[in-house]
Amino acid sequence: MKYVSTRDTEKNPLSVSSAEAIKRGLAPDKGLFMPTEIPTLTKDDLKALMNMPYEERAADILSRFLTDYDKDTLLLDCRSAYAEDRFPGGAAPLLDIGDGIYSLELWHGPTCAFKDMALQIMPRLLSRALTMTGEKRLAHILVATSGDTGKAALEGYRDVPGVKITVFYPVDGVSTMQKRQMTTQEGENVNVCAVRGNFDDAQNGVKAIFADASLAARAEENGFFFSSANSINWGRLAPQIVYYVSAYCDLVKNGTIALGDKANVCVPTGNFGNIFAAYIAREMGLPLGKLICASNANCVLTDFIRTGVYDRTRPFYKTMSPSMDILISSNLERLLYLLGGASLTADCMAQLAECGKYEAPADLMQKLRAVFAGYYCTEEETAKTIRASFEGRKYLCDTHTAVGLGAAQKYRAESGDTRPIILASTASPYKFPADVCASLGKPVDTDEPAEILDALKNAGGTEIPAPLARTLTLPVRFTKVVDAPDMPNVIFD
Ligand SMILES: *Cc1c(COP(=O)(O)O)cnc(C)c1O
Repeated sequence: MKYVSTRDTEKNPLSVSSAEAIKRGLAPDKGLFMPTEIPTLTKDDLKALMNMPYEERAADILSRFLTDYDKDTLLLDCRSAYAEDRFPGGAAPLLDIGDGIYSLELWHGPTCAFKDMALQIMPRLLSRALTMTGEKRLAHILVATSGDTGKAALEGYRDVPGVKITVFYPVDGVSTMQKRQMTTQEGENVNVCAVRGNFDDAQNGVKAIFADASLAARAEENGFFFSSANSINWGRLAPQIVYYVSAYCDLVKNGTIALGDKANVCVPTGNFGNIFAAYIAREMGLPLGKLICASNANCVLTDFIRTGVYDRTRPFYKTMSPSMDILISSNLERLLYLLGGASLTADCMAQLAECGKYEAPADLMQKLRAVFAGYYCTEEETAKTIRASFEGRKYLCDTHTAVGLGAAQKYRAESGDTRPIILASTASPYKFPADVCASLGKPVDTDEPAEILDALKNAGGTEIPAPLARTLTLPVRFTKVVDAPDMPNVIFD
């Protein structure tokens, strides 16, 4: 299977292997890599998958997209990525939380957010890609993070051969817990640095490094090249397709639905990566009905789905679901490409870059609305959902999952569609303990991570996840703070 750019309008577009696509991250024309075809999943395939543990399901689905990778090696890598010591109790458990809603808990990995599902396997895919493509240089992964990605990438890439990683985070832009998680990171090939300013300053700093030819040359002289770990890389998207297939298999296996019956999916969305993976699973033939795209107060996607106009020129809100505080949903580009082709995608992306908005044609929006429904939750609605879920369903959810749950309930009420809903639960409530406590009506007034975690434990009556408890016992290793222009020095020093 070959990969092409979403913006490539040539008659014979540049096509690369999946290993090459994963190594490069972004296509040369700044488009995103997409497979030239979507493999199909038959009923018999699903029957076989139903009887497999998660890591075998993962290797099976991945091998359909990464056809240049050796199948046995993929299985080996999936076995280590999703092993019991990294995901105690299983990688993607599905929990019945009542009213036909099933919480797909994607946060049982080392950093307690769903990013682990991709970032535990992707470094292994990259490492293999370096060997497969005869790469002699070291890959230096650069990440700008608003919290969850940085830690998940550090944990995934730590001590991976042939790779180094530097993570930049905005000095005042991450939660106390997220900061502690990153500054205590273990591993010989990792570096973490705070940047004065907000997330955009850190992100623009990283983008500037990627775009600077002289820095690339300097890296070359030192035997390395820059690579990225964010969700525009196909190596992060492909592993996310797996858990939707897995959740469907589990619904059939536990007798909730018959094989072939449809289930809906609801995903709290930021960059449109996680929900796009559900779309790919659906395109493969997985019997999914509606895909409910849930946003917080930064509801640029809800508006797009409803009006056809994508407009990022609007106020930006800092919410209690910070991993969804995004106004440019990069992976939407992949959906535009599948529904409208490369030339339309290139046009829309040029308009977005120039004027901050674009309007998708009506026929494209019709196709899109046949699959996607968009809903958003305000801060107040999110807090209410956390409390109502805890009191009514006896289910404690984090702020992002709550946005999803609120949206799922709105969709149900408005559409009357009673199919079961698979709700992507994207983080442990203990990752955002202060906001969860406040939503439960038990606000905390301390900045001490240990005290905040204990407060939630007392309010919620569940156990603090072991990786977060352990973080509190580790020494802080990284204390450097720089201005954005000094970011290159951090790398070359
Ligand atoms: C990253 C993240 C999201 C958003 O996922 P996208 O793939 O960007 O849509 C939602 N919830 C949490 C907890 C996250 O870390």
